[in-house]
Amino acid sequence: MSSHPALSPEAGERGSIAMAGLVRDTGEWAFDTDVVVVGSGGCGLTAAIAAAQGGVEVVVLEKQARPWSNTARSGGMVPAAGSRFQRAAGIIESPEAMAEDIFRKNGYASDREATLHLARTAPRLVEWLVDEVGVALVFIDDFKYPGHGEYRMHAPPSRTGAALVADLRRAVEAHPSAELITDAPAVGLVADDAGGVRGVVVARGGARERIRCRKVVLACNGFAANREMVARHCPEMVAALYFGGEGNTGEGIRWGQALGGAVAFMDAYQAHASVAVPHGILITYALITEGGIQVNAEGRRFADETRGYSEHALDVLRQPGGVAWDVYDDRLHRLGGQFDDYRQALEAGAVVRGETAAALADALGLPATALAATLEAYHAAADGARADPLGRHDCRRLAPPLYGVKVTGALFHTQGGLRVDADARVLREDGSPIPNLYAGGGVAAGLSGHGPGGYFSGNGLLTALGYGLLAGRHAARAIREGR
Ligand SMILES: Cc1cc2nc3c(=O)[nH]c(=O)nc-3n(C[C@H](O)[C@H](O)[C@H](O)COP(=O)(O)OP(=O)(O)OC[C@H]3O[C@@H](n4cnc5c(N)ncnc54)[C@H](O)[C@@H]3O)c2cc1C
Repeated sequence: MSSHPALSPEAGERGSIAMAGLVRDTGEWAFDTDVVVVGSGGCGLTAAIAAAQGGVEVVVLEKQARPWSNTARSGGMVPAAGSRFQRAAGIIESPEAMAEDIFRKNGYASDREATLHLARTAPRLVEWLVDEVGVALVFIDDFKYPGHGEYRMHAPPSRTGAALVADLRRAVEAHPSAELITDAPAVGLVADDAGGVRGVVVARGGARERIRCRKVVLACNGFAANREMVARHCPEMVAALYFGGEGNTGEGIRWGQALGGAVAFMDAYQAHASVAVPHGILITYALITEGGIQVNAEGRRFADETRGYSEHALDVLRQPGGVAWDVYDDRLHRLGGQFDDYRQALEAGAVVRGETAAALADALGLPATALAATLEAYHAAADGARADPLGRHDCRRLAPPLYGVKVTGALFHTQGGLRVDADARVLREDGSPIPNLYAGGGVAAGLSGHGPGGYFSGNGLLTALGYGLLAGRHAARAIREGR
């Protein structure tokens, strides 16, 4: 094993070479390619398409036999202020205004340049996805997530990440220079004595092979499926339901660290306050932001639901039994019907209807008198008769029939990771890039500051697809230019 500092026992999350997954370049290779992308979620597929379009050969390695990434599980909502789709909807908004919303949510903690850069990349990204990749996206102008100053989400018509991934995967598979290999986990990086990346070790068919390449893109998400890392960095979520992909075990971050890569915001994550239990189906937060409320087992509201679904997840977990009930009316029920997840929840029997508040309380097993008092107070705030005691500003009357769903708070993904530059190259502590190594999505430091409260809807796919595009384009350009 090399004595280079990047491979030293001190490097890496666990402080050991074996766990860091670094292997020295010994010149033995199973095959060569230009770019290896680790992970076939939104970041990996985007990077692969961008690199292949840039004229280089790409191999995507995917750990899972049947990939079910976070991107596939997501709502597929990609934020972009200033896209031509937003303009066509009559909205004139600058990327800087979107960045300002992101800053406000994370308390101005995220990296200023990275946040502005990704916000400015976003309109090009969604236009490229539609025009040059063939992804079907529509502009979402019927609901806003908390803190969004304007409508700016772009999503598949089904509002599912599965459709987004299907379109991206189709583009990868159709490209003659790109190949996706599933059931093929990357298990380490091959580095030279100078700490530059030379290849990837992959486990396939019971054997380990080394693939030599010019560039590696780490697109294997964060560490939310790694309980040990969650316990260390986000301890308040270690017992919570995890609602993301099982493949996201943090090795990409550890490999980057072992090569001297700097990390940031390791305590940041996206949680969600509205996952149906016991069904395990996401209930869109649009039901809440557009007027619905959450009550606990005592029939009482317990916090301003509209600050953000991520931090509100902790409030839900603090309630008796770690659960709450979304309560909303027919207008919101119809809004929910636009989401595949919500329709699944209906089919699964997670959504309960009551012709009156008392009937709903009865059907949900909640105290009817307390629920009636909660609704009365909420309506008084909606009418302007008195301020909402929990500080909510957009209270709205809920008209019977009413609906309810029992939900819990869940961990969706982590937002901390390797520091990267404007081309998604992984940076060392001194700001210099690690040769040939890129990272995006959950592997890279996100835009959400610290903890759960800085997560702003769209930050996940913005950093996944945005850094994927930047990494793929830069990797191809550097290879073409012989760098
Ligand atoms: C339910 C849900 C809804 C969400 N909705 C939204 C939304 O609407 N908008 C938004 O912006 N964000 C949303 N998010 C967040 C968003 O999904 C993530 O931030 C984003 O998908 C991360 O993309 P990624 O490419 O980094 O990771 P992923 O999409 O998770 O892809 C990583 C892939 O890498 C693979 N992998 C891991 N390790 C290895 C390895 N060693 N070798 C090979 N492959 C490996 C994994 O199996 C996986 O397929 C949501 C998240 C969840 C859970």
